[in-house]
Amino acid sequence: MKVGFIGLGNMGAPMAANLVAAGHSVTGFDVAAPCPAGVVPAASAAAAAAAAEVVITMLPDGAVLARVAAEVMPAMARETVLLDCSTVDVAAARAVAEAAGSAGLGFVDAPVSGGVAGAAAGTLTFMAGGTEEDVARVRPLLEAMGRRIVHCGAAGAGQAAKICNNMILGVTMIATCEAFALADRLGLERRKLFDVVSTSSGQSWTMTTYCPAPGVGPQSPADNGYRPGFAAELMLKDLRLAQAAAAAADAETPMGALAADLYRRFVEEEDGRGRDFSAMLPRFERRHRGG
Ligand code: NAD
Repeated sequence: MKVGFIGLGNMGAPMAANLVAAGHSVTGFDVAAPCPAGVVPAASAAAAAAAAEVVITMLPDGAVLARVAAEVMPAMARETVLLDCSTVDVAAARAVAEAAGSAGLGFVDAPVSGGVAGAAAGTLTFMAGGTEEDVARVRPLLEAMGRRIVHCGAAGAGQAAKICNNMILGVTMIATCEAFALADRLGLERRKLFDVVSTSSGQSWTMTTYCPAPGVGPQSPADNGYRPGFAAELMLKDLRLAQAAAAAADAETPMGALAADLYRRFVEEEDGRGRDFSAMLPRFERRHRGG
């Protein structure tokens, strides 16, 4: 397929490279990052979109998406599809979907999980929102960039699934980290806690797959000095999106709110920026009750 790819950063560049490797013809644009090998550089976002059957965006947030969408949609041929893989607020995804519909274009929101490693390996999970027809049209591209595609519902449903998942992830990471810090103070060996919890009712992905304790469980960012992985500031972004969505939908999410506040303090007031989100464990290790 002919693809326009806008936003070639940490995630977008390897995703575009995988499309090229799968035989698609990709024209790319980014305001700062260079095009990866095999991607034909365009002079503007609109130029990247002009001849494309599908335009993919992988951008920082909903405000940038809205600006880029307004720029590229007039350049897109009717019945082509705008496929946004960024993580943005549900409201922004729905607004772009509506504008695309009015312009005779398809729209799919397909935020990802799997991070930079998953983007490079082509093993991302896509959570897709859009019509059956639009999702079917972009499916070959999603299959070239990922391993699992879940069609979650109408436009915006992909973003809704993503922020619900990451709210659970943020909350369980904090719970796992504070449990390790409590075990330390109780004189319980971390490996023993891992052995029990990983096969008991406290089990979670944060314990068994991405353990925040160095030297315990499979290799994780904790074994690499807490270099990300998934950076604390990206977790904060997703927790803020979850809180914005909860406020708009009048949903009570007290644990999500507390997780957002803890990650805000960690990133903005402590040493969390640039560290993996599992570096909450050394944070709790140093702190005291009420401290
Ligand atoms: P990034 O900052 O590395 O990449 C974003 C790119 O967009 C940058 O290269 C930037 O120059 C470009 N850009 C900004 N404004 C632009 C514009 N107007 N026109 C063209 N290009 C523009 O970020 P990333 O880590 O690649 O993340 C991209 C998206 O994926 C974000 O929404 C993020 O939340 C989401 N995400 C990231 C990860 C991760 O682990 N990095 C995991 C899942 C989801």
